[in-house]
Amino acid sequence: MERENLWAPWRIKYVQGLDQECDCFICHDSQNSQDDDKNLVLWRTDKSIVILNRFPYNNGHLLIAPIRHIPDLDQANDDELLELTKLVRESQKALSLTIKPHGFNVGMNFGRCAGAGLPEHFHIHVVPRWDGDTNFINVCSDTDVISQSLTELLEQLKQTSKENNLPGL
Ligand SMILES: [Zn+2]
Repeated sequence: MERENLWAPWRIKYVQGLDQECDCFICHDSQNSQDDDKNLVLWRTDKSIVILNRFPYNNGHLLIAPIRHIPDLDQANDDELLELTKLVRESQKALSLTIKPHGFNVGMNFGRCAGAGLPEHFHIHVVPRWDGDTNFINVCSDTDVISQSLTELLEQLKQTSKENNLPGL
């Protein structure tokens, strides 16, 4: 049984991310599978969701999150941590096959002071990098240009996933 369930049974829906009042976009996306294309959802797995960031730092910026609405690693169980880590691997595979980056930044931000845009629901950033690409801050100011191709990129990544049986968990 989850620790949260033992101590605060009324919060079960909340910690499972099923609370309809929750205004978290990851919970919103994970509960509305009919809108996966609109929400730029690439993959759904047992415990996790992989989404193309609508405000990317660079082309192909993916977010990997547990489906449960939890703020940090301390609340994640081992099964979730294993799946999330495997999804980092599979995301890098899919991106490498699709848009051939030269490298990646993979990271997590905890707390607003550390730059977390959504501190209540932790997520892993996978950001493709290319030799000579601009730094994060410069790229950020140009997100409109990148986002025009998000739908197209999502389709390409889905096609790559189908052809290569990704994610292979
Ligand atoms: Zn959430």
